[in-house]
Amino acid sequence: MRETWGWLLVLVALCSGGVQAGPGEADAAFERQFGDAFLDRYWRENPEAGIASGYYRYAADLLVPDAAYRAHYLRYLDGALADLAQVDPSALSEARRADWALLKNRLESERWGLSTFKQWQWDPSLYNVAEPIALLLNTPYAPEPQRLRTVMTRLAKVPAFYAAAKAAISQPTREHTQLAIQQSAGVLDVLGKGLEVQLAGSGLSAAERTEFWLRLRAARAAAQSYIAWLKALDARLALDGSARSFRIGETLYEQKFAYDIQSGSTGKQLYERALAEKERLHARMSVLADQLWPKYFPDTAAPADRVEKIGKLIAKLSEQHTTREDFIAEAQRQVPMLEAWVRDHDLLTLDASRPLQVRETPLYQRGFSIASVNAPGPYDPTANTYYNVSPLDDYTPEQAESFLREYNRWQFQILNIHEAVPGHYVQLVYANKSPSKIKALFGNGAMVEGWAVYSEKMMLESGWGGFEPEIELIHSKWLLRVVSNTIIDYGIQVLNWPEQRVLDLIRNEAFQSETEARGKWRRATLSQVQLTSYFAGYSAIYDYRERLKRELGPRFDLKRFHERFLSFGSAPVAVIESLMRPQDAAKP
Ligand code: ZN
Ligand code: ZN
Repeated sequence: MRETWGWLLVLVALCSGGVQAGPGEADAAFERQFGDAFLDRYWRENPEAGIASGYYRYAADLLVPDAAYRAHYLRYLDGALADLAQVDPSALSEARRADWALLKNRLESERWGLSTFKQWQWDPSLYNVAEPIALLLNTPYAPEPQRLRTVMTRLAKVPAFYAAAKAAISQPTREHTQLAIQQSAGVLDVLGKGLEVQLAGSGLSAAERTEFWLRLRAARAAAQSYIAWLKALDARLALDGSARSFRIGETLYEQKFAYDIQSGSTGKQLYERALAEKERLHARMSVLADQLWPKYFPDTAAPADRVEKIGKLIAKLSEQHTTREDFIAEAQRQVPMLEAWVRDHDLLTLDASRPLQVRETPLYQRGFSIASVNAPGPYDPTANTYYNVSPLDDYTPEQAESFLREYNRWQFQILNIHEAVPGHYVQLVYANKSPSKIKALFGNGAMVEGWAVYSEKMMLESGWGGFEPEIELIHSKWLLRVVSNTIIDYGIQVLNWPEQRVLDLIRNEAFQSETEARGKWRRATLSQVQLTSYFAGYSAIYDYRERLKRELGPRFDLKRFHERFLSFGSAPVAVIESLMRPQDAAKP
């Protein structure tokens, strides 16, 4: 009898355990609490981020960034984090556990930003009303009159917005102050003549147009007053030397690194690893250069200096490039070849139902990058994924030549691997199969960029490029840029490196052009940690794969590893590692 009762109790316990804490029920509860309703509240608190993500419900609200707003937002974050703390992550399925971890990191990172990092205090370029307005004017998500009314509602608060900005800023950096002055000119452009013309030809009533025009005039005046105020501030900072340094220092750097990268390592560890990788790459490139030298310079002896020898060979190889007329056609030709290669070498399963369309970059998106993947976001109704390639139309012949040399015969293949197959596009197709808005909206940049860089290495390992020293040398130069981005970011932000040391490293040790070096210095003074994301993600993925290979020996299955790894969506590498089991990468 007792034994029977015991059985029954065990069964009841198992059943009720299954009902209360099994992944199905726990997942459903998590999705109810942190699904669409949670996101809707989040966009209500962050209308601009909503607009950028294609969620327009709160698009008319321009939040005034004053002290009351910051206190309110902190309370919102604390509340959401308290709700999240009520969830037992171990009861969730793998996919939801990753969502839980991503959301927790996101909210904690925002709280840290508001209360500790305080960029709102020292970065005047944060205060910019133009981008959401430009998006509302240029994205046909609704009929034009409706979008203009949304903009009109936002415009009413622009004067209060800039007044709050002036009150929030104290002891800014000169670099961010000057950036704000420069970008505020862009605000006047978005609020300029073009908008007046659009308004005049719109379906708004005469009364609405008058009201719009009055608000537009007041908004312009507020932006102009902000620019004048910033210029006076910059002049004063130049005189009294009271500007804050753009270098954030070790403590803040490590905190930001932990939130942004989420790789499990520290910024310092990654920096040291990058230094070692630079040495390894130089040694390898020297060997490759020795192999190639007689082929490309049959009549001259190689320079004794390693860096000079490598540099000369890279310059020589760069002469082999396509023309500006053939640039897009060449990408269109290569993408199917890369797809066939991935299939034939059992690297990954490609989804034939989501073809990638190679096209010229549309006009309004030009000027940012030469090639990029344009993917539908979670709120975007269009299903097509585009590979945008710049037509180089607005380049002078000299600029085009220098550009084509940079994206020479070998580099162009690496670019297509990185952006398209099996890089960003393939990762994205897999990520979209993990039906999680949280991962799609708050995905980890280091994982996304790390995968693209990893995929270059993996393609060369599989024999793409025929193991020729040329493609390995050019790829090494590309990797060296990724590696040196990490080194200079840490060097500048934590180790106080002066400009000259940074420029020398980029030019002489990473074989980059003068323009690249100057642009990189500027970017590294304005951002922190972001430059490390490529190398951080790449090295974390590569290490993880090598560890699984050692553990599994001959049972390791590359294709299964890739597919399982990508099935978690754009979660941080450390989170994927905690969710994946070694047998997931083993031969079936
Ligand atoms: Zn040329
Ligand atoms: Zn990328």
